[in-house]
Amino acid sequence: MFTFFKSRRRARLRATPISEAWRQIIDHNVPIVQRLSPADRQELFGHVQVFLAEKHFEGCGGLELTDEIRVTVAAQACLLLLHRDTDYYPRLTSILVYPSTYVVPGKHSLGDGLVEEGDEPLLGHTQSRLSALVLSWDSTLGGARVVNDGQNLVFHEFAHQLDFESGDTNGTPLLQSNGQYASWARVLGAELDALRRASESGAPSVLDEYGAENPAEFFAVATEAFFERPTELRDKHAALYEQLRAYYQQDPAAW
Ligand SMILES: [Zn+2]
Repeated sequence: MFTFFKSRRRARLRATPISEAWRQIIDHNVPIVQRLSPADRQELFGHVQVFLAEKHFEGCGGLELTDEIRVTVAAQACLLLLHRDTDYYPRLTSILVYPSTYVVPGKHSLGDGLVEEGDEPLLGHTQSRLSALVLSWDSTLGGARVVNDGQNLVFHEFAHQLDFESGDTNGTPLLQSNGQYASWARVLGAELDALRRASESGAPSVLDEYGAENPAEFFAVATEAFFERPTELRDKHAALYEQLRAYYQQDPAAW
């Protein structure tokens, strides 16, 4: 029954047009959205309505939250949800935003599904058990406005959230079939090995070498490249591109 009411409420939210002000924020701050077809843009705007109605945002470190911040985060997070059945990052309840890089006080281990970006101080991090995701606003905005560099903090952190949906933090999100799990493991495993070799030898790669850390970081980095450097990824890593295309149900190289 709960699910019924939830899906009805979400359908109502998706059908509500976003305001002109929000549309302008997206146009200005998240230019990748302009590459989408009109139908996909509408789908995205509907997801943004649901996302902003359900997720709690908090400004940290003196940051005053604005619609610009919330909408800029939401538009990027929701781009990862198009064309798929989605429960809107069900493990995530709160998004904490700092003005810039920040330091997590106290000791924190890297166990328990914690993933964090950059050496101290951090640009962003998230954790499967804490239901929270932390972002620095300047990196969020920079990642959104520069579309072609393969660096996008929000895509990266929300890819980790998709990874968590499967129950493990292992670089494998929920896939559609057993066959898909087998090919995902084969292709992404081989690509991770190749990235590690490239990283050790200093050879250039479409994929940020941070992805060589572990399978979870590899999936997050590959997601950034898939949306921001799709043509290069397709040309140089065709099998990886195909796995991501099948998962995301999107073909950014064709935009
Ligand atoms: Zn990461």
